[in-house]
Amino acid sequence: MASYGGEFRDVRVTNVEKDGSGFTSMLDGDETITSRKIVLATGISDEFPEIDGFEELWGNGVHHCPYCHGYEVRDQPLGVLVNNQHTIEYAKLIYNLSEDLVVFTDGQETLGEATRSAFTERGIEIENEPIRAFNGSSDSLESISLEDGREIARHAFFYPPPMKQHSKLAEQLGLKVTEIGLIEVGQSEHGVGFTSIDGLFVAGDASNASAPSIPSAVADGNVVGATVNLELSQEAFENS
Ligand SMILES: Cc1cc2nc3c(=O)[nH]c(=O)nc-3n(C[C@H](O)[C@H](O)[C@H](O)COP(=O)(O)OP(=O)(O)OC[C@H]3O[C@@H](n4cnc5c(N)ncnc54)[C@H](O)[C@@H]3O)c2cc1C
Repeated sequence: MASYGGEFRDVRVTNVEKDGSGFTSMLDGDETITSRKIVLATGISDEFPEIDGFEELWGNGVHHCPYCHGYEVRDQPLGVLVNNQHTIEYAKLIYNLSEDLVVFTDGQETLGEATRSAFTERGIEIENEPIRAFNGSSDSLESISLEDGREIARHAFFYPPPMKQHSKLAEQLGLKVTEIGLIEVGQSEHGVGFTSIDGLFVAGDASNASAPSIPSAVADGNVVGATVNLELSQEAFENS
């Protein structure tokens, strides 16, 4: 990056303000930086259920993305948390990985009669007892403890937790955030990643135009970068 004139700073941006035709960003430690454009690539964070062991095993036996972590656990004993309509559809993806599947409702009444029948007809077990803990070592899940004292052996567990913006910048800037926690961006014939603030763009997981994965974030960063470059080049041309 440095060889192309870029600079990487490992510091938190605490505030961004529109300042004439550009921006002033405040960094931790009270340093300020001015820029003509801003790309927010601040990502998302996941909101974990308050169950012992969930966070500790996150990414190591407890997963959110079957496309990222499913193949490695195919045909193994799997579990999935189904606590809303979206996760009913998600459970079908997990069944496609392994027919040895237990659906955990964690004590919630989310499954209608038709869904229960569809699951049980396919040999999917339904466990209604609330979950007390996820048990395992640092790199794998071994079992799931239930409130009634039973323990169910599972090799991996899937659940897509609700997402929220990793940084407070979207809120501070008054950007529109969708119901599922992503910044709403627009596109035009001139590019992608536009927000309601002229000159401020969003790329990667933070944006509702990118699926939460590394290839999508990289691809989005590529085209948002080109969009910013086009604006800067046009402005330079106009001012030359
Ligand atoms: C457990 C887990 C496993 C995953 N496995 C896979 C996988 O196998 N394959 C795959 O494709 N994807 C996987 N993903 C998803 C992948 O990590 C993300 O899609 C990708 O990292 C998104 O990139 P990003 O640059 O948009 O955001 P991020 O990688 O989240 O980067 C955002 C950066 O911005 C920084 N930041 C936030 N706010 C501020 C601020 N105010 N000031 C300064 N810096 C700030 C953050 O600290 C962070 O470094 C996984 C995610 C998780 C949680």
